[in-house]
Amino acid sequence: MSTPQSTQELIGLSERHSAHNYHPLPVVVREARGAWVTDVEGRRYLDCLAGYSSLNFGHGNPAILQAAQDQLQRLTLTSRAFFHDRFAAFCQGLAELCGKDMILPMNTGAEAVETAIKVARKWGYEVKGVAPDQANIVVMEDNFHGRTTTIVSFSTDPDARDGFGPATPGFKIVKYGSAEAIRDAIDANTVAVLLEPIQGEAGVLVPPAGYLTQVREICDENNVLFVADEIQSGLGRTGDTFACDHEGVVPDMYVLGKALGGGVVPVSAVAADENVLGVIRPGQHGSTFGGNPLACAVGEAVVKLLGTGEFQARARELGAVLHERLGALVGPTGEGGHGVVAVRGRGLWAGVDIDPRLGTGRQVCEALMRRGVLAKDTHGSTIRLAPPLVVSEEDLNWAVDRLAEALDELARDAGRS
Ligand SMILES: *Cc1c(COP(=O)(O)O)cnc(C)c1O
Repeated sequence: MSTPQSTQELIGLSERHSAHNYHPLPVVVREARGAWVTDVEGRRYLDCLAGYSSLNFGHGNPAILQAAQDQLQRLTLTSRAFFHDRFAAFCQGLAELCGKDMILPMNTGAEAVETAIKVARKWGYEVKGVAPDQANIVVMEDNFHGRTTTIVSFSTDPDARDGFGPATPGFKIVKYGSAEAIRDAIDANTVAVLLEPIQGEAGVLVPPAGYLTQVREICDENNVLFVADEIQSGLGRTGDTFACDHEGVVPDMYVLGKALGGGVVPVSAVAADENVLGVIRPGQHGSTFGGNPLACAVGEAVVKLLGTGEFQARARELGAVLHERLGALVGPTGEGGHGVVAVRGRGLWAGVDIDPRLGTGRQVCEALMRRGVLAKDTHGSTIRLAPPLVVSEEDLNWAVDRLAEALDELARDAGRS
């Protein structure tokens, strides 16, 4: 494998030898630093997806790389059959960041969501006193919590759900953003409300002001756990450590992942107080890799970075720039706008709805790619922007300029056809 391979060769080989469970943009990345990636042809792109917010601290963040490299030389895996010397500090640090008693470490986001579901059910039976196998969990329309069979059982996205049945029972799906809908759905057997404080995959949907506060109140009134999936919204992205902080709301369980692994390894966790996480006893839940020494070293470095508040502040300040600039693209092309219909989000995270007559989100992302910006569409004509929090203000402005150009190009093409 000494001869360098071209983009086309590598894409062809990838398509031939891997399942087609993704539809990637035709770019083959070879290396990256900070907010910029370089492809195999030497072209550079500003990364405005950041691994779906896994790369909040940038590609190759020096503090995270150092922690990982030091740990790689010493100890990488013990399994949880033994203690290791990196475990305590990570768990303590993350618990303190969350303001919770304890954490339960896993690897991927979906595993952490599964963990939260298991913990909530067990809490329901042992603490709340729900009859065996009767627990239900209230979840939201257009949710995204991962890809396991139980999680896709309560997805409302046909692509994610259909063909993978039979579905796991025990979930009630209600409209996102309506506290009333949650109140109506809760019954004596409800053990938890599970939601994303901002729905990322659905298009960076921000719920109405006061919603999270109301959810907290409803959960308290009904002795139901509030479980916040902050896998994408948490760890600095929105300008706070957690998206729930925006309303000063503290859920009973945080579900974390993505950026917790520093863009290096998969690290996920749930954080909760002892009266909740304490229901799990030896042998009842686990993971061979969860809480391994390398993961803990990286996770501890991430917790330290967040402890300074610097990244949250950057997300807040640059987020204001991003949203102001994107807001100026709203309106018909040539009439003061650039064909953007709506912009949503918080901090350095935006969902941008494009006039569908200009093209699909995919087409916008392809046009952006030709201009050196990597972004990802969600559904229909929506794209999302979530650059690493280390992005410079200059680069951020440059990316929005490229978006305006890309949209103008699509408008010209649409006008011709
Ligand atoms: C990405 C994501 C998940 C799933 O995480 P994986 O690591 O891909 O399993 C769950 N919930 C939310 C909100 C996510 O964004």
